[in-house]
Amino acid sequence: MSAPVEADVTGRRVLGVLAALPQELGDLVEAMRAESGVRTVTLGRRDYHVGTVHGTPCVVTLARVGKVAAAATVSALIHAFEVEAVVFTGVAGGVGRDVRIGDIVVADALMQHDLDASPLFPRFEVPLLGVTRFVADQSLSAQLADACACFVAEEGVTLAARFATAMPRVHRGLVISGDQFVASAAAVEALREALPDALAVEMEGAAIAQVCYEYGVPCAIVRTVSDTADAHAPTSFATFLTDIAGTYSNGILSRFLQARV
Ligand code: SAH
Repeated sequence: MSAPVEADVTGRRVLGVLAALPQELGDLVEAMRAESGVRTVTLGRRDYHVGTVHGTPCVVTLARVGKVAAAATVSALIHAFEVEAVVFTGVAGGVGRDVRIGDIVVADALMQHDLDASPLFPRFEVPLLGVTRFVADQSLSAQLADACACFVAEEGVTLAARFATAMPRVHRGLVISGDQFVASAAAVEALREALPDALAVEMEGAAIAQVCYEYGVPCAIVRTVSDTADAHAPTSFATFLTDIAGTYSNGILSRFLQARV
């Protein structure tokens, strides 16, 4: 089954925007419905919403959780919709020692912390591809980081008061992905030891970055820190996801998409 190549009247290709869970998309699909109307294409048990939002032609979808789900979804965005680039928004566990709940991490590079084909290949290296760290697109990531900085400058004080968090900060660096929800002090410490420069841990980013690398599609990933990957993580994650994640996504994506027009 094939879907039409998506392009607006000027021939500009669509931007792929995705998250794992609905709360992480905020009001993006509703905003698209109000702005341009939405055409929904269903492929591989996922709904792809096509339209214009904050002035930018987009296809918006949910990857669901884990590396396989993320790889399958981004592959469909590339094949069926011929996206010009991919942006992922969501939450993550903080790993870096100065990364706090409510902070934002824009990935410079991503890797799979649970990939280990040693001794055949070095630990963490993707076999036969010969890559360990996938570099996010510099210009797209810079645009995303600008949107985050603007969001924090304009809404940070209100956010911190409303959600009883510290003033949010924007970090750039390594994001690590694996098929585990990391939720113990021992597990997060083991990750810090193995990968001292890791800032945040999640379950999709490196899979998206790998598929984008293989197809030569620019990608950028932003994560709001919902927990610190320790024993409090399940509660902190659930509260953050329900009450806060959408506010961050709305604030970041609206600024990012408007700036692209
Ligand atoms: N569907 C379930 C489980 C979500 S798993 C639920 O809604 O409760 C957690 C999601 O948040 C993943 O998509 C992952 O990318 C991110 N995440 C947040 N904190 C994480 C952590 N400590 N470890 C791994 N992933 C985390």
